[in-house]
Amino acid sequence: MTKILIVDDAEFLRVRISKMLSGDGFDVIQAENGARAVEMYKENSPDLVLMDITMPEMDGLTALKHIRGYDASAKVIMLTALGQESVVLEAIKSGARDFIVKPFEHERVINAIRKLVA
Ligand SMILES: [Mg+2]
Repeated sequence: MTKILIVDDAEFLRVRISKMLSGDGFDVIQAENGARAVEMYKENSPDLVLMDITMPEMDGLTALKHIRGYDASAKVIMLTALGQESVVLEAIKSGARDFIVKPFEHERVINAIRKLVA
C-alpha cells in the first residue's frame, strides 16, 4: 500500500486530505510541523510527502531540505498558498517534485500523487 505523509499545521486540512486519500486506498500518516515531518519520514519511509510551507517550529522548505538530505530520492509535493511563488521556486530547486495550490481539488491532488507513485 502506498504510504503518504501529510504535513500541515492546520489540523482540519490534515484531516480533510487524510480522509480523501484514505478513501482512495492510500495509507496516510500525519505530522503537524516540519520538525515532526523529518522525524516521521525517517521512522516510516513514506512513498510520498505532501508538505505545507508555513508552519511553526520548522517550515516546509527547511523540512524538505532535511528530508532530501536524508533521502535524495524522497518525493515531496509542496502545498502552497497564493503569493508563495518565490518559496515554491526555491522548493523546486531544492528537490520538490510538484506543488499544489490551496484550496485543493480532489482530482488535482490524486493526479499529482499518481504521477509520482505510479
Ligand atoms: Mg500552514
